[in-house]
Amino acid sequence: MSKIDYSLKGYERPKLTTPNGESKLLMHSCCAPCAGEIMEALVASNIDTTIFFYNPNIHPKEEYELRKEENIRFAQKLGMPFIDADYDQDNWFDRTQGQENEPERGERCTTCFDMRFEVTAQYAKAHDFDLISSTLGISRWKDMDQINGCGVRATQPHTDITYWDINWRKLGGSSRMLELSKREEFYQQEYCGCVYSLRDTNRRRVSRDREKIERGVKFYQQAMDKLSVQTKA
Ligand code: SF4
Repeated sequence: MSKIDYSLKGYERPKLTTPNGESKLLMHSCCAPCAGEIMEALVASNIDTTIFFYNPNIHPKEEYELRKEENIRFAQKLGMPFIDADYDQDNWFDRTQGQENEPERGERCTTCFDMRFEVTAQYAKAHDFDLISSTLGISRWKDMDQINGCGVRATQPHTDITYWDINWRKLGGSSRMLELSKREEFYQQEYCGCVYSLRDTNRRRVSRDREKIERGVKFYQQAMDKLSVQTKA
């Protein structure tokens, strides 16, 4: 592991321990901004962690690649193993057929989480991990109970794998997530990921007289810089 400064404005991280002394964690990651703080906390607690990037929901492919590359960049910085899983988008569209107009946090999201956790659990089983979790729960836009329900369901066929339902938002996790994203200048995505969330976010923006999302251009620090340049102009 590389030597990096884990401190964020003097914050001292509590030491994390796995729920039942499990030794190998496979952490499903959705993106660098959500994963960053969690990855650092796990390294600081010496928990043997591998990142599993399985997100066939992300649309379009260029957005998927950008989010993935950001996550790889940070995993390399920490010296954390990174598994680049399949982008089987056809399966994702098959499974969510008929749920195109569900709202965020609705049935389509349950399907989406189920699919991502099932594949994570299958990979964990095949590669001797005894614990899985996900970075999805750190976002305050997500429903923790919905996510945890999907995580538990995915591990049910595998009695030797536990789903870790740790609440990453606690103890200031959400604010550190933002602070760390700025420090690392992560790409700042502006919609959850799927084509329907892109559609709905744009509809919401247009209804509020805002511009549609311009993908691939906003990075945490750069966004701040742009803002300050605009303010000075
Ligand atoms: S809104 Fe997000 S969680 Fe829900 S289906 Fe789309 S990508 Fe998946």
